[in-house]
Amino acid sequence: MAELINGKVVSRHLRELIASDVLKFKEEYGITPGLAVILVGDDPASTVYVKNKHKACLEVGINSIEIHLPATVAEDVLISKIEELNTDAGVNGILVQLPLPKHICEERVINSIIPEKDVDAFHPINVGKLMLGKPDFIPCTPAGIMELLNYYSVEISGKECVVIGRSNIVGKPIAQLLLSKNGTVTVCHSRTKNLTESAKRADILVVAIGKPDFVNGDMIKPGAVVIDVGINRKEDGKLTGDVDFESVTEKAAYVTPVPGGVGPMTITMLLKNTLIAAKKQISKYFF
Ligand code: NDP
Repeated sequence: MAELINGKVVSRHLRELIASDVLKFKEEYGITPGLAVILVGDDPASTVYVKNKHKACLEVGINSIEIHLPATVAEDVLISKIEELNTDAGVNGILVQLPLPKHICEERVINSIIPEKDVDAFHPINVGKLMLGKPDFIPCTPAGIMELLNYYSVEISGKECVVIGRSNIVGKPIAQLLLSKNGTVTVCHSRTKNLTESAKRADILVVAIGKPDFVNGDMIKPGAVVIDVGINRKEDGKLTGDVDFESVTEKAAYVTPVPGGVGPMTITMLLKNTLIAAKKQISKYFF
């Protein structure tokens, strides 16, 4: 039976460390780190995410600035708001909750956040720095996965790491991070042939595709570490991951549950990135 990788426990532990670091930072510089979160429209899932981010900020002593714009807001108005925040000294991190309404170009909006305040690490400059192995910020979900592996002392160097999914926010950056820790990385996607064959080779398998219970016990190597990033809502309203937990837990050494695995780590890493941003802005420690 696999051991559970408990994201709630790790997240709580890290939030305590972040809270004490925020306090030290305030004492030393007299500045409270600030995160501005922009929500456009009233999408229920996005509204919940933004509320959770606000609560988490308060919990660790970070100022949370919530900006709610109507779904009909013009792209230029949204970008002007971001430009205002770019120069606001009380704001260290800026996040625009995605997805945005269809009439707004997400790429233009992301690119309008200055890289120094881009705590989601989606700006091309931050993506490039990650590629070069010199990131200022690591995107939150992949950063959370790395923290989980570290907390459970999972060795990455020399291991076969297989990532299923190649999105810009999860698959590609986690592949890069595993590579930077000397894993041998394979990235699979919807056009991959013999995906099971690749998955079965994995010592560490990261699944981020958005397909409920896609990976089952027959697709993994005995003793593998299985990280399930997926968040899917079933017809009965319950959440499930991309991994069939029951069958995988029989064979894996470690597995993340959904909920309670990767999920709680994402916001924690956002808090960490906001603190990093505040520290770097003080010291102007950006390349
Ligand atoms: P995307 O939809 O952006 O990307 C999905 C990826 O999965 C694509 O690369 C796609 O391949 C690949 N894929 C889809 N179907 C298959 C298949 N049958 N076989 C192999 N590969 C496949 O998703 P995200 O990366 O944004 O999210 C993935 C999941 O993770 C979702 O459930 C999402 O809700 C969850 N998530 C959870 C987070 C958390 O905090 N825990 C944060 C972010 C996401 P191709 O490129 O070829 O189309």
